[in-house]
Amino acid sequence: MNLETDALRKRIELLEATLDRARLGQTGAGDTLADLQEMEGRFQAIADTAPVMIWLSGPDKLCYFFNKGWLDFTGRSMEQEMGNGWAEGVHPDDLERCLAIYTSHFEERKEFSMDYRLRRHDGEYRWISDRGVPRYTSTGVFTGYVGGCMDIHDQITFSEQLEKKVEERTQQLRRSEQFLQSILNTAGNSIASYEAIRNPDGKIMDFRIAYSNEDTFTYGTTHITGRTCREVFPGIFRNGVFEKLVKCIETGRPDNYQFDVRKDGEVHWFEASIEKLEDSVTVTARNISEELKSDLRLKDLNRQLAIQNSIFKHSEENASIGSYAWNVATNELECSDNLYRLIGYLPQEFTPSFEQFLSFLHPDDRHQAIRDGIRAYETKVVVQNTYRVITKNGDIRHFRLSGNFIKEGDNHLMIGALQDVTKDVELSDALHKKNLELRRNNEELASFSYVASHDLQEPLRKIRAFSSRIMEKESEHFSENTRDYFGRIIAASARMQKLIEALLSYSGTSGVNFKFAETDLNSIVDEVKSDLEELILEKGAVVEVQKLPVLPVIPVQFHQLMQNLIGNGIKYSSPDRKPLVQITSTVTENEQGPFCRISVIDNGIGFDQRYENRIFDLFQRLHGKNEYEGTGIGLAICKKIVQNHHGYITAEGAPGMGSAFHVFIPTRIAQ
Ligand code: ADP
Repeated sequence: MNLETDALRKRIELLEATLDRARLGQTGAGDTLADLQEMEGRFQAIADTAPVMIWLSGPDKLCYFFNKGWLDFTGRSMEQEMGNGWAEGVHPDDLERCLAIYTSHFEERKEFSMDYRLRRHDGEYRWISDRGVPRYTSTGVFTGYVGGCMDIHDQITFSEQLEKKVEERTQQLRRSEQFLQSILNTAGNSIASYEAIRNPDGKIMDFRIAYSNEDTFTYGTTHITGRTCREVFPGIFRNGVFEKLVKCIETGRPDNYQFDVRKDGEVHWFEASIEKLEDSVTVTARNISEELKSDLRLKDLNRQLAIQNSIFKHSEENASIGSYAWNVATNELECSDNLYRLIGYLPQEFTPSFEQFLSFLHPDDRHQAIRDGIRAYETKVVVQNTYRVITKNGDIRHFRLSGNFIKEGDNHLMIGALQDVTKDVELSDALHKKNLELRRNNEELASFSYVASHDLQEPLRKIRAFSSRIMEKESEHFSENTRDYFGRIIAASARMQKLIEALLSYSGTSGVNFKFAETDLNSIVDEVKSDLEELILEKGAVVEVQKLPVLPVIPVQFHQLMQNLIGNGIKYSSPDRKPLVQITSTVTENEQGPFCRISVIDNGIGFDQRYENRIFDLFQRLHGKNEYEGTGIGLAICKKIVQNHHGYITAEGAPGMGSAFHVFIPTRIAQ
């Protein structure tokens, strides 16, 4: 209260001084001290009730009044604020500027307004808008300034936030625009705006390209903006796109279409969407080439998968195969349709399980199947075995079952196939039986050979011997006819003897237990030559032998081979010339490895090449027995011997020109 009184007193002194000056003619007359005091007092009372902050200063620039609003705001007393005390509450960054504005305007008695931060009672600086107006009495005496302040902090921060938001939004938009632009540029996407060109009746005849970013992608350096669609895209008037653009403008309904662009030999596919904008259409095209490609790839993969599935299904059916996958942990068993069929059921007729699978197996095979399963699980290798399966109608069929354990996540899956091999098993059983039969036959043949060699030859020899003796001793008592008959008996029995010997020799070349030995073929041919000496001399034949190699052969058999071939070369000689037999050898290579070719070439009567294969069969003869005696077994023996050496024999001949027999045998023989 005292303070207020002091302030009032000071103020009154000031007013008195003002009035004194007025009285001296410096201000308008008529204002009395009482008037001023009353006016001041009323103003201050009103000011205290005002919801704004008000201050008053005198002509000396010093403030002498702050209303309740101000004091409540700053939380300070009138005394603290008086004079220049208020300046303590102004933000240091704003004070200098505020004082400069205040002083300069004061000098010129001008209104001013300024914003500054003023400390509130809680210590927070808040933005204040302060407006100062010079005051005069009714007689025009300058009495100082009155100022009104408003807290504009919230407005300022709000507008600051607003500005920040605007800035952020702008950034976002800029980023989106850049993103859009980058999409448009990089992927060959495009955006364009076409303005309708109408004829005087208002009908749309064409479009002008108002904007397009397609320039660089599609047209390189040529710019299409400003030109008409008819000039740049004449195709749209043929493919229905122009009508779509017109319709979009007329109805306002968006639409879309697809088109392709050929660039650098590649076709790019686009999907365009049209949207109306005033009297234009905006066409946004998206490059969908990659999508189409991957879509096509996917379709292609699906197609391949479907084909593979159907191939698999067909092959399962054709090959009598079924497949299965057994999950060990869950005991789930998945079986292919054909597996059901193989065991006599309809596809997926029942829900399979491991136990059920075992129940189909023949009881005698179940333990083996379980053992095989454990082995597959432990070794993780494919295990295969054949089991008997009892089908729905009780038939026993043989199935070859294979299975392999694989890991799928935490689970162990046994994946495999089973094949109905009943036919194979039956065939191999039959083969086994046939083998046994064959062995029995061979044994019979062997015993026949024995019989033939000993028992048959014995009476034959007797027939020949007694016939010859009868001929020697009794022939002069015989008639011509009887002599002729006896001669024939002797010749026939001699032939029969030869035949038996040849047959024995032929059956003697069968079998597998022959010993191969590295043999000098020259010595074999020398032996043969000496064996045939009589014949050679008799026919005046020449046998020429090139140096022959050392080869792994069965010596006895090779001897017989060479004897038969050289013997034939001399036997089938031409009556016109002395027989010449040449023996040559070369080493050649074929896909099985190195082979030695031994050729026996003669200058005899030759034969028709057509019979090349026939002459190697048993009892096949090309020449009558009266011209050339023989049994038709010799070359069959040769063929067998060569086969025993893992080789083959061929013959070349021309009637009257001689023959050549070629023996091919590997230089290394797997024993
Ligand atoms: P064989 O000589 O006892 O009749 P082979 O089996 O040795 O029986 O010969 C079969 C047939 O092949 C002979 O009958 C003959 O017609 C023909 N042949 C064999 N070797 C020759 C050859 N060097 N020249 C012409 N023909 C031959």
